[in-house]
Amino acid sequence: MKGVAGRYGWRRAVKAAFLHACRVSGVVHIFRLFAKRKLLVLCYHGFELDDESRFRQIFTPRDSFRHQLEVLSAQKSNVVSLGEGLARLKEGRLTGNTTVITIDDGFYGAYAVAAPLLEKFGYTATIYVSTYHVIKETPVFRLVIYYVFDFASVPVLRVRNVAWGEDQDVDLADRDASRRAMWQCITYGETACNEAQRQEIARRMSAYAGIDYEHISRTRMFSYMNRGEIRDLASRGFDIQLHTHRHRFPPGDRAAACKEIEENRGILEACTGYRPVHFCYPDGIWDRSQWAWLKEMGVESAVTSDPGLNDRRTPLLALRRFSYSPRMPDVEFAAGAAGLMPFLRPIAQPSRRGTRPLQTEERHNGNEQK
Ligand SMILES: [Zn+2]
Repeated sequence: MKGVAGRYGWRRAVKAAFLHACRVSGVVHIFRLFAKRKLLVLCYHGFELDDESRFRQIFTPRDSFRHQLEVLSAQKSNVVSLGEGLARLKEGRLTGNTTVITIDDGFYGAYAVAAPLLEKFGYTATIYVSTYHVIKETPVFRLVIYYVFDFASVPVLRVRNVAWGEDQDVDLADRDASRRAMWQCITYGETACNEAQRQEIARRMSAYAGIDYEHISRTRMFSYMNRGEIRDLASRGFDIQLHTHRHRFPPGDRAAACKEIEENRGILEACTGYRPVHFCYPDGIWDRSQWAWLKEMGVESAVTSDPGLNDRRTPLLALRRFSYSPRMPDVEFAAGAAGLMPFLRPIAQPSRRGTRPLQTEERHNGNEQK
């Protein structure tokens, strides 16, 4: 218990102990019966290529993912494609823990780590790809800067001759000062620079921090799949779908939102040869007012990050998911995958409908303006 608490925090450890007791006592089996006629949609983001899982909760280590696929297999989860899952949902044909696996964003790890493992288990997945970094083929600037500030090998970052502020010695032990300096750099890069200039800043900041930028670039730990890799995944039966071009879908701006889908769709369609019609809200932020736009754009389903299972009453443009995080103990994943989701709500993310955090470290995609 002490080890679990140390790794995941007390709240999560108590929850894990409770779930373990449920599992041993057979309560999980009862929940599985409850969830039998509901659709479970699992949500992943990146997969670890180097040491990203110690840094952001969105990168799943290879061994954890393999273990989770073993859990799905042992639980006899009925893993189907998104199209098949939605057809069963609409026609009331859901039986035997129907599960759909989804992967957001399109990080390179989805290609290098997740896809081969999924194939080993005979599973498929829908990958919602945001295309800005697919075209640029560069690491996500914001993630590199987060990494520089979190893992600098120097105690003080000596920032010199930069366009976004004065020369400064940033004491990295001072969290407020460090965050302030980090956001100055990110905001300048994302709003005032083009991609080449951003990468130059990332290279320079890495050098100040004693971090090997070439390693980040070579391992592609913060990079997306390229067009050839997307084409390859599609040819292997993976379902490539919409996630906007610049990872944004502004609730108050119909024209900008529709343009995001158009650009995203054009690039993906050229890679896959088919027109994507399923959508994932960037950052899980959505609002009912956007449904008319999605329908207008021919979008048939949309997933949120709201936790829960789906049944016939769930709107197809607000599907719920169970999001995996590397901080989640194995027993919690097993319980979620067995349909205990509604009972896990207190520790899951709250609905983010209508909110729009512009500057928060929860965002793992950039906010590049050009
Ligand atoms: Zn995303």
